[in-house]
Amino acid sequence: MRTIIFATNNSNKIYEVENLVGDLYNVLSLKAAGIDIDIPEPHATLEANAREKSETIYRLTGKDCFSEDTGLEVAALRGEPGVRSARYAGENKSSADNIEKVLRLLNGQANRKARFRTIVSLIMDGKEHQFEGICEGKIIEQPRGDAGFGYDPIFVPDGAEMTFAEMSLQEKNTYSHRKKAIAQLLAYLSLHGN
Ligand code: IMP
Repeated sequence: MRTIIFATNNSNKIYEVENLVGDLYNVLSLKAAGIDIDIPEPHATLEANAREKSETIYRLTGKDCFSEDTGLEVAALRGEPGVRSARYAGENKSSADNIEKVLRLLNGQANRKARFRTIVSLIMDGKEHQFEGICEGKIIEQPRGDAGFGYDPIFVPDGAEMTFAEMSLQEKNTYSHRKKAIAQLLAYLSLHGN
């Protein structure tokens, strides 16, 4: 089986991506690849942060790798938290704190439209390629469900009644931003991969 490094140590993302990749690729987390660094996300866009992560790991290893950066973009918050999704309530705050902040800012707001956007950055043979996956939906008033991670308990994708956190991973993947971006990555690798 071919091996590719996924430039993350986020166990939720690894779980979701491994599930999508199946036995096409052996996906190595940074830890599994023996790389012990915390890659900064200093940029103003998902695209630039994703590129920063994959280029950092390519510089270190010289091996093909990919990264992803995801943001929740809420229409009534002019696209926030967006690139700041992980730290929306502040450094070292939890997902529950981030959720609480989004719900507080949307309190009394009729427009609950939001979307998840994922950018995957692949470096293959030293060249970068990006793939985007978007899932449109809405933010509900109170968190529901225990599955998934991050903002999943307050996000209901268009066409569904349940939040992502009330769905099995298979159900989440019928809508998911990450699934759409990874599907493009896999299609690209199947055409151009080594
Ligand atoms: P990052 O891509 O690691 O910077 O994550 C950005 C933020 O969005 C983190 O707070 C994650 O928990 C959250 N996040 C990323 N992907 C998802 C998802 O699929 N569902 C819910 N929250 C997510």
